[in-house]
Parts: sequence; C-alpha cells; structure tokens
Amino acid sequence: MSTAKTLFQKIADREIPAEFIHEDDLCFAIRDINPQAPTHLLVIPKRLIPRVAESSSDDVDVLGHLVVTSGKIARDLGLANGFRLVINNGKQAGETVPHLHVHLLAGRPMDWPPG
Ligand code: 5GP
Repeated sequence: MSTAKTLFQKIADREIPAEFIHEDDLCFAIRDINPQAPTHLLVIPKRLIPRVAESSSDDVDVLGHLVVTSGKIARDLGLANGFRLVINNGKQAGETVPHLHVHLLAGRPMDWPPG
C-alpha cells in the first residue's frame, strides 16, 4: 500500500481545512465540500480502509462504529426522521477518494432507486 496520505488523512491531520462535526478515537465527520443535499456529511475512519471491497474481519468494529456514529450525529442534528447513508465502492459507483467513508445525506426527499 502507498505511504502517501489520502485526502482524508490530510484533513484528519489538519493539513487541509474542513468543517469538523464530530471526532473520536476511531473516526471523524466533516461537511462535504460539494454538498448533494442540505446536510451532507462524510463519516470517515481514521484508520485507512480503501473501500468496502478491501475490508476484512479486522474492520468489523470500525465499520460498525461508522454506522452507529452516523446515527448519533443524525439524532444530534435533528435529522433522525429521514437521512440516507451511502458508501460508494469503485469508480463505477462514484468513488473518487480511495479512503472508505460514509456519506450522510439529509434535508430533502431521497429518490429510490438512487442515481
Ligand atoms: P466519493 O466520491 O469518494 O464517494 O466521495 C468523496 C467526497 O469527498 C465527495 O462527495 C467530495 O465532494 C468530497 N470531497 C472531495 N474533496 C474534499 C475536500 O477537500 N473537503 C471536503 N470536505 N470534502 C471533499
């Protein structure tokens, strides 16, 4: 694996600015720079997992933590009546940053099927 930091590692290390909404030992949440909904957050593990397809049983705790933390953030922001969590895996699914992250989208009706 490359030793170059990912964009999100640079944000975690405060080398690139971002609006932090949450931070704990395992993950942090920031506002997306190009929001696709009135609320669009990224919930990101501090430990680099490139994408879901490269996760392993070692990652069960941190992946569970991302979902539980997303729910807590949504509750804290008053969004618990409707929000969507999205993880893009691979270019065809829209992945642009190779550091797994959960999109938390809220504040507008969400279509199904998603685009
Ligand atoms: P992906 O396309 O990999 O699922 O999601 C990457 C997300 O990171 C995109 O929604 C994109 O807008 C966001 N993003 C890209 N660069 C930055 C940045 O410098 N700061 C923040 N806060 N978000 C970014």
